[in-house]
Amino acid sequence: MGAWMMAAMSFRIVTFLMACAASAGIAWGLWGLQGLGPGAWLGALLWFALDARGAHRLLAALRGGNAAALPTRESGGLWGELAQRVRKLLRERDKQVHQAEDRLQEFLTAIQNSPNGVVLIDEQSRIEWCNQTAAQHLGIDVHRDLLVHLSNLVRHPDFVTYLASWNYSRDVVIDAPTPPNRSPGGLRAHPLRLSMQVHAYAGNRRMLLTRDVTAREQAEAMRRDFVANVSHEIRTPLTVLVGFVETLQNLPLGEPERARYLQLMSQQAQRMEMLVNDLLMLSRLEGGAPPPVNQWTPVRALLTPMEDEARALSERLVPGQGHHLTVTMEDDAEIAGAVDELQSAMSNLLSNAIRYTPGGGKITVCWRVLPDGQGEFSVRDSGPGIAAEHIPRLTERFYRVDRSRSRESGGTGLGLAIVKHVAQRHGAQLHIHSTVGQGSCFSLLLPAARVQSAAVFSKL
Ligand code: ADP
Repeated sequence: MGAWMMAAMSFRIVTFLMACAASAGIAWGLWGLQGLGPGAWLGALLWFALDARGAHRLLAALRGGNAAALPTRESGGLWGELAQRVRKLLRERDKQVHQAEDRLQEFLTAIQNSPNGVVLIDEQSRIEWCNQTAAQHLGIDVHRDLLVHLSNLVRHPDFVTYLASWNYSRDVVIDAPTPPNRSPGGLRAHPLRLSMQVHAYAGNRRMLLTRDVTAREQAEAMRRDFVANVSHEIRTPLTVLVGFVETLQNLPLGEPERARYLQLMSQQAQRMEMLVNDLLMLSRLEGGAPPPVNQWTPVRALLTPMEDEARALSERLVPGQGHHLTVTMEDDAEIAGAVDELQSAMSNLLSNAIRYTPGGGKITVCWRVLPDGQGEFSVRDSGPGIAAEHIPRLTERFYRVDRSRSRESGGTGLGLAIVKHVAQRHGAQLHIHSTVGQGSCFSLLLPAARVQSAAVFSKL
């Protein structure tokens, strides 16, 4: 028995005895000795009546679940003390309930903000709760669709079979059942791909996790295409090389024929070398450190070797005729960035113009600093031009408009992919304007932060 209980019981005994004694004393005063016994009984009865009233009030308040109606401690006695204890217990329980509610709220907020969808379903696969991501993924209306059977909303046969199988060791990947919420921009070209995995818990209850794997699947498809393309690009020159080697080994050839075959073999080997170099460049661009922002190179130093290379290429491709090439530097300036990357991007644009423009055509290269401080490098040619539908795809790896012209002139199909990467790494933009039959203009727009005109750097 606790100390307070002992004290309360002692208090009760003392008050009981005092009530009996007081009542007996009054009765003795009024009726003499014979009033003593009934007086004590009357006192005991009175005490019990008051005590029963206190117990009744406490019970009534507890039955009504009304904490405010509980007797106060000041009302005294065991029942007042008990009421006080109950009140304290209730306060503590209320506090715990509030804390638990707050924790639940935090937990729900965390799940709401999860990039993965969460749906809780009951034994009959009816939706009990879902977060906003799941609602978007599966087109669930959180109010209307409560207790709706999940397979009424997600009807994909693979998912329906999976849900019914009760074997959830792996996920199942399906197209999103309804178009997800869209930006005002319009329709998505591809449906969302969702990974759906169910986890059973607490007996027959289940939780469905949905994850948007569209980007992952696209990346995997791109990787597969890339490997297939690289293998194809390498296999062609390799097959030709192997054929020539066998011919040289097995046929007794005269010196002129031998020399011609060796020349063709060397061309194929060069083609493979260029392809490997471009692939290495792309992988360096993808994994390399960001280009420096404080390493300045004069534009002149980039343009001069590029022009020399272009004239040599023009002479090699159209001997004796070449192209009318003009290189203009309207403003003297410096560019901040990775020199080898900038050189590669600029010479890719110029070599494309030379390779795709027929001999005698006009090619104009121009560098200038725009009034807002951006630097513009442009290559304009009078070549065949490119139809509008190809333009958005030109920077894809191995995308070619004119496959045979690209191969004949030593193209790898990676030039513009490299240019795009270099541009992105330098915060620059690549603009392509072209009209079939009139020519094309490729321009790189470098941000003002990476351009320093002569007026500025000559003062430094
Ligand atoms: P490639 O090595 O085949 O030239 P690129 O990535 O540099 O690869 O270019 C992709 C395609 O864009 C080329 O195959 C060609 O069809 C087209 N193209 C690029 N530049 C020009 C241009 N100046 N004029 C016409 N077509 C061009």
